[in-house]
Amino acid sequence: MTTDSPHPTLVLVYQRTSLPWIFESAERAGIDLVLVPRPDEAVSEDRLPPAVVDVLQLDIETDRAGALDALRRRYEENAFQGIVTLYDPAVPFVAEAAELLGLPGIGRDVALGAQDKRVMRERLAAAGLNVPGFVRLDEPADWEKAARLTFPVVVKPAHGFSSLGVTKAESPQRLKSVVDEVWRTSASKLGQVDGLVVEEYLDGPEFAVESLAHGGDVRILTIGYKGDPQGPHFEEGVYRAPAALPETVQDDIRREVIAAHKALGITDGPTHTELRLRGGVTPYLLEMGARIGGSGVSHYIASGVTGIDFAAQALRIAAGIASEPLGSGPLPTPVGAAANYIVPCGGYGRITTISGLDELRDDPRVDHVVQMLFPGDVVRPYPDFTGYPAFVLSRHASIAETEEFHRFLEQAIRIEYADDTDHSHEGQA
Ligand code: ADP
Repeated sequence: MTTDSPHPTLVLVYQRTSLPWIFESAERAGIDLVLVPRPDEAVSEDRLPPAVVDVLQLDIETDRAGALDALRRRYEENAFQGIVTLYDPAVPFVAEAAELLGLPGIGRDVALGAQDKRVMRERLAAAGLNVPGFVRLDEPADWEKAARLTFPVVVKPAHGFSSLGVTKAESPQRLKSVVDEVWRTSASKLGQVDGLVVEEYLDGPEFAVESLAHGGDVRILTIGYKGDPQGPHFEEGVYRAPAALPETVQDDIRREVIAAHKALGITDGPTHTELRLRGGVTPYLLEMGARIGGSGVSHYIASGVTGIDFAAQALRIAAGIASEPLGSGPLPTPVGAAANYIVPCGGYGRITTISGLDELRDDPRVDHVVQMLFPGDVVRPYPDFTGYPAFVLSRHASIAETEEFHRFLEQAIRIEYADDTDHSHEGQA
């Protein structure tokens, strides 16, 4: 394969340029990027990250065949060495494109297992891993099939992400209305919905695991604490790594996550796993994504904890130029602690002020304040999802300091709303 540039080139699908980590890692790794912008993001060519050498507009959601065609033409004119995404719904498209062009990738079938929660549950169960009782629903009218599960249960779209629509139902009496509501929310927010999963509620704290697979070896880099959200809706909150866990529990998590890679057939590339410790001890996967999590936040966390350039390694694997074997030994010894605090909406309506964020930009512990919502924006109440106001990404000497910092942020950041928006017909706050 040849390109005009001496650097390997990767196509990067649907990454926002406001989330910089993957672009910075590409630059460090000497990898050029062809950016496929999100359709709703206007990128200005003169303000692109240095690693981006070209921009290619593709609409993978409504014109998949056209997008594959455009990629093939781009490849024939000017070959690239691989294609990646950090955007969960694009994982199957990227796997398909890589397969068609003969580039490194996990393949369409494996991508499906990592993206469709029905297939994932079936494959994990078939491999004998820890899976809660679950039922797949092909249409809302099937809701009664799930009434035999042990309650409470969680109802979610098969192809969801960012907790969109995910809702707890406390009793069989509530099941029908929750299924209807999740179907409606998913249809309006995700564009289409072809099925739901209903599964037993896993009681226990939540953790995220960042891993890299290469040639079938799986290296777990970090395990981080994700809070203990109780529902009924599951807004994301904190991410603090490395999690303070007994060695035995850490080993159980490591074994379960490595086994899940095998069960799903993920042999190459980064993964982002979310799990709960049922009863405080037994790891049950919630999901495993075949991508770097949180649009790159997972790279920030894993590299802050281990000193390893997670995204650069992932990009080398995608370009077929990763050489060093990973081994699948114990977790790397942490070199520090890293955290993400997702500012909660804390209400709804039209935002009038957001206070406490600007001061953080000068705080030596804080590397990034990524603000997504601003005064004037309207936050709609759950189950609708407007987005998160901001991320605060920070590094610390110890996990205790991350906890203390997050307690400080809870007090320091305030969002105020004007009550000039009429939500009288909508759900609870
Ligand atoms: P998404 O891909 O939309 O993030 P997840 O399956 O990861 O969907 O669910 C989102 C959140 O909902 C999880 O992070 C977790 O807090 C909660 N959740 C989902 N399924 C369960 C379950 N079976 N038990 C307890 N909590 C759950």
